[in-house]
Amino acid sequence: MRLEAVELHRLEMPLVRPFRSAHGERTSRDVLVVRVVCDEGEGWAECVAEPDPSYSPEYTAGAQAVLEDHLIPRLFGISEPFEASSVRGLLSPVVGHPMAKAAIEVALWDAQLRSQGQRLADALGGIRPLVPAGVVVGIGADAATMVAEVADRVEEGYRRVKLKIAPGADVERVRAVREAFPDLALQVDGNGAYSVADALLLSKLDEFELQYLEQPLAPDDWLASARLASQLRTPICLDEPLVSAVSVGQCLDLGACSVVNLKVGRVGGLQEAMDVYRLCIERRAGLWVGGMLETGLGRAVNVALASLAGFTMPGDLSASSRYWHEDLTEPFELKDGCLAVPTDTGLGVAPRPDMLRKNRRSVKLMKREEIRAKP
Ligand code: MG
Repeated sequence: MRLEAVELHRLEMPLVRPFRSAHGERTSRDVLVVRVVCDEGEGWAECVAEPDPSYSPEYTAGAQAVLEDHLIPRLFGISEPFEASSVRGLLSPVVGHPMAKAAIEVALWDAQLRSQGQRLADALGGIRPLVPAGVVVGIGADAATMVAEVADRVEEGYRRVKLKIAPGADVERVRAVREAFPDLALQVDGNGAYSVADALLLSKLDEFELQYLEQPLAPDDWLASARLASQLRTPICLDEPLVSAVSVGQCLDLGACSVVNLKVGRVGGLQEAMDVYRLCIERRAGLWVGGMLETGLGRAVNVALASLAGFTMPGDLSASSRYWHEDLTEPFELKDGCLAVPTDTGLGVAPRPDMLRKNRRSVKLMKREEIRAKP
């Protein structure tokens, strides 16, 4: 295919509940949506970068800048027709910016698969028509609040709950939830808030039969993570530092983790995500699909990916209503604790024109013939 034009839509989508980070509290989300127009058809995707550089160095406005100044001009400059599978290589001269790269790559996959009449899940090798849904429960005011929230989520049908923990809000909260739900698939996420000095404290989590402890230590301290893993029975899962198949391989080799949270945006697209997937199967690592507060566009990608047989644990795959009063696409709904893999071609979903209109703050159109291609 040849890329003829790209639209970059910036939306402000109201969230059902506020999202807190080190940059403060947000009640809506700044979403960057990419529409590609190719000679063979069009495709859509979402950039999963946060509005602030709180999860990684990327952020929405920065992702848009690198798309406009570098990634899109580079693809406009390709004179031969190309396949979506070659986008990773074509964009490799641009260092970093995985979430921006993933957005344009996924949109091109959507365009290509739609034109070929194929679903993303089938193209990736997915086999499950339904994927088990998981949900994240934030740090509540106290143990009772967290137990009550978990009860609500279980009542809604979620089969796996991930509890956020932090120093001072950990062992006793997890104990209370475990006592109330002895058989629930339970996981905890420390978001880098602990140090190796907390090994003894964290080892107290071992009695709760957690599927894993996610990112207890700072993202760049792989050796400390390996040291901690050797002192715990609960498997360690890493999130933030796993930016490529190489980093996943090294963290598994070091013993820094034995469970992998795979996020398509964090690793720079579907091509790299599939390399991570194959590597994890080869190494028999625990594997699940992570989430980034996506709209239905990003969720469709996550759900398609989670339909592959090698994902051993339910991911951060929640229904649209967990995040949005009204989703950008047709909503993903929970049925018997699962989300259905879209049956339509490509991602299987597209932005609703009324939702685009209602939430759009700006749109930028870039045309091949008007943009000077990057060498
Ligand atoms: Mg995490």
